[in-house]
Amino acid sequence: MQKHCTGSGGEKMNYNPISPEILAQLQEIVDTKNVLVALTERERYRNDETPGGPAGLPEVVVKPENTAAVAAVLQLSNHHRIPVTVRGQGTGLSGNAVPIHGGIVMSLEKMNKILEIDTANLLAVVEPGVVLLDFRAAVEELGLFYPADPGERSSCIGGNIGTNAGGMNGVKYGKTRDYVTGLEVVLASGAILELGGKTVKRSSGYELMHLIIGSEGTLAIVTRAILKLSPLPRKTISLYIPFDDLFAAARTVAALKRARMPLTAMEIMEQDAILLAEARLEQKMPYNQAPAYLLLRLDGEQEEELLTLAQEVGEHCLANGALDIFVGDTRPAQQKLWDARACLFEALKAHGTMEAADVALPCSQVPEYMYRMKAIGRKYGMTITSFGHAGDGNIHTWPLQGEMPEKEWAQKIPLVMHELFVTTRSLGGALSAEHGIGFTKKAYLPLFLEPAQLTLMKQIKQLFDPCQILNPGKIFDPK
Ligand SMILES: Cc1cc2nc3c(=O)[nH]c(=O)nc-3n(C[C@H](O)[C@H](O)[C@H](O)COP(=O)(O)OP(=O)(O)OC[C@H]3O[C@@H](n4cnc5c(N)ncnc54)[C@H](O)[C@@H]3O)c2cc1C
Repeated sequence: MQKHCTGSGGEKMNYNPISPEILAQLQEIVDTKNVLVALTERERYRNDETPGGPAGLPEVVVKPENTAAVAAVLQLSNHHRIPVTVRGQGTGLSGNAVPIHGGIVMSLEKMNKILEIDTANLLAVVEPGVVLLDFRAAVEELGLFYPADPGERSSCIGGNIGTNAGGMNGVKYGKTRDYVTGLEVVLASGAILELGGKTVKRSSGYELMHLIIGSEGTLAIVTRAILKLSPLPRKTISLYIPFDDLFAAARTVAALKRARMPLTAMEIMEQDAILLAEARLEQKMPYNQAPAYLLLRLDGEQEEELLTLAQEVGEHCLANGALDIFVGDTRPAQQKLWDARACLFEALKAHGTMEAADVALPCSQVPEYMYRMKAIGRKYGMTITSFGHAGDGNIHTWPLQGEMPEKEWAQKIPLVMHELFVTTRSLGGALSAEHGIGFTKKAYLPLFLEPAQLTLMKQIKQLFDPCQILNPGKIFDPK
């Protein structure tokens, strides 16, 4: 017998399978061509980019083409208590869009229109399936700039909003949240809400829009977004700076921030990552002998002004132990440096098994974190390498299996991750800076949040989604 959800809460969540009748209704709502049932097609939606991450097979994949269809699918799923995992491009790194409870994967890849670029208000109105790369190119043609910049530009706006994505430009421009002024969302019940709008300022009751940004598809499905744009900076300069000590590189980031250097991007990378990037791209970096590197970018309007700033930044770096300064002021030279940074994840992943941490720290604590992270690696006889958005205090930390036997790795990796997170917590940090909690980090959330905070979060989830159909098992477990 089918279990229906009364929405009264408290009941244990048993999900129903998709019966032939429900499948027929889905086909009617979104059109048969937008419903995938063949195993080979559904398998493409099993997992995301999380190294060694979870997998889950959806019973059905639906690809609605408009908000009304999203609402109708949710209404049906809510009534029959069928889990719905909304998916962007599946590039998440915490198992965020993996359908671990099966049910429906709702891919919004067909809702991919840029509806308006409002040059008078410096805003754009987009559907959630718009791919970041395409969106940036479209606004750049008009001399405009969408600064939220996760490293994976094949991700889409819906996924970026779902995770509150950050990226390389965070030091100067912030995260995705800082660029959202309005959302159209569909609740689990199928109700459609307009949140925010085109106004720059708003102080009108609880800001539900910001609650939904970063909620990983667990509270509502975003079907349209209004995004802020900036004028496109005319010039950029990049600096590639080797250090003979990782901690000196990390300390330099803090020193540059103290000196109020107006950098756009401040990335830190260890040598093993650089060597893997060189091999992957089959090209040499300007220097590869040092154990640590900073990759910095300045942007602005006037070349002279940027060159003067670059000089000042370089002097700070040399005073803090830099071995040399390589300046990229042409487009190809800069592209080469940033391509190396962009391929680091793929280069490491291709190298072998690894685990991922995406911790956030107060910037001044990054050097201390680096010391302790390396000490944890030595304690467990494991290489832990790192790169990341150091100017935001966001260090992507990668324990690598290397030659370690499988059994030993399986025993040690939970201990290593636990110690990394306890260290992060003790330094005033956060469990995730930008990838979200998803599936892979949820066991660690209680290390970082007070019980009262977790309880409040679960109550909010219950209010938005009483039948617990939206992306269940992410951030925390369904009841
Ligand atoms: C090489 C590489 C580099 C990366 N670099 C960065 C980086 O610099 N910064 C960063 O932040 N991340 C980075 N990521 C992670 C990833 O790209 C981001 O998390 C991105 O925001 C995910 O977008 P997506 O379209 O792939 O979403 P998905 O992975 O499909 O989904 C992500 C989450 O958003 C939810 N979601 C998707 N669409 C919607 C919607 N319409 N409404 C509500 N919720 C929705 C999903 O349910 C899921 O919980 C990187 C990943 C890779 C592989």
